[in-house]
Amino acid sequence: MSPGHKKIVVLATLVVVVLLANAHTIACWFDRQGLIAWAQDIRSEYLTGTAITVILVMFYLLDGKEAIRRCTDSLRRCPVCDHTIPQSGRYCAACGSRVA
Ligand SMILES: [Zn+2]
Repeated sequence: MSPGHKKIVVLATLVVVVLLANAHTIACWFDRQGLIAWAQDIRSEYLTGTAITVILVMFYLLDGKEAIRRCTDSLRRCPVCDHTIPQSGRYCAACGSRVA
């Protein structure tokens, strides 16, 4: 862990402690702004048990890693000349360098 990461961890810890220490004040401020009532309306209208079940099933059925891999493969570029490489190609058509 580099010193930069340590500073970020310390700052994040300080922010979390300050937020937790003032949780009641923050919750009251959210209530005064009407954010809590708005969130309750959203939950009661759109996040029913059926909707949550459908969302979870879609997350389970859709293989996110496969979709991300397909997207990144279609966007491969040559590291030498930045030419677009076809999905199955191993060599750049523009400069002939091998693409990993
Ligand atoms: Zn190339």
